[in-house]
Amino acid sequence: MEKLIEKYFRPKLPHIWCPGCGNGIVTAAVVKAIDKLGLDQDKTSIVSGIGCSSRASGYLNFDTLHTAHGRAIPFATGVKLVKQDHHVIVLTGDGDATAIGGNHFIHAARRNLDITVVVFNNNIYGMTGGQFSPLTPHMGKATTAPYGNTDRPFDLCELARGAGATFIARATTFHATLLADVIAKGLAHKGFSLIEAITACPISFGRQNKMGSPANMIRWQRDHAIMIDAVSKLTPEQLADKFTIGVLHQAEAPEYVTEYQKVIKQAMGGRE
Ligand code: SF4
Ligand code: MG
Repeated sequence: MEKLIEKYFRPKLPHIWCPGCGNGIVTAAVVKAIDKLGLDQDKTSIVSGIGCSSRASGYLNFDTLHTAHGRAIPFATGVKLVKQDHHVIVLTGDGDATAIGGNHFIHAARRNLDITVVVFNNNIYGMTGGQFSPLTPHMGKATTAPYGNTDRPFDLCELARGAGATFIARATTFHATLLADVIAKGLAHKGFSLIEAITACPISFGRQNKMGSPANMIRWQRDHAIMIDAVSKLTPEQLADKFTIGVLHQAEAPEYVTEYQKVIKQAMGGRE
């Protein structure tokens, strides 16, 4: 890991994340995936919004943009349209991506824009004081829901699939090797790729929901995640409080930047 830190991280470390926070594990998985594919650092752009996880862009030694709350995907869209040969990676949180940024998320998926979105899902707004997000579980506690959250959460992967994303995967910080592997697969995929990274926020979510130590939160991930290819062997009762991990969906479809270039060429009378 030292070599990866030297190569891919800025000397700005140490970071601001709380002890036991899962954000470092997800960020390490992103870097391992980039390294595994041997991506050119000068042709990899990392874009983030606002929130604890969105601080990751500031620690990474690439072309990075730390943008406005919920707006990472529109910035990433602009980067990808101009720098078509770049791998564009969005690092975002569950609040950032699915509340104020929810519209951008579904429309980038619908367009099949060739970017990779890694959602650090810790089920809460960590940085701003522990308010519930669209991914906080039903009846989960938050500062804005001290008696339990009456909203039902999105299934983020199903939302992306319904919107038209062509690569969808989920993993957890317990399954860190799988997480790096599915991020690499998403980066290699041509089209909109979503990786939902289930991660622990022991301070804002864990304390309010009495989940115990960070180690307990990681054990919770281990005990509730089912590999997608094991699902058919289990009964509905066994699956009741579980979620699936692995590559959940992959398909081919026309990619947005390629299609847009064709329109530009036509508008120019066929000239390049
Ligand atoms: Fe991590 Fe939660 Fe602390 Fe934010 S508040 S750094 S998500 S543990
Ligand atoms: Mg969050």
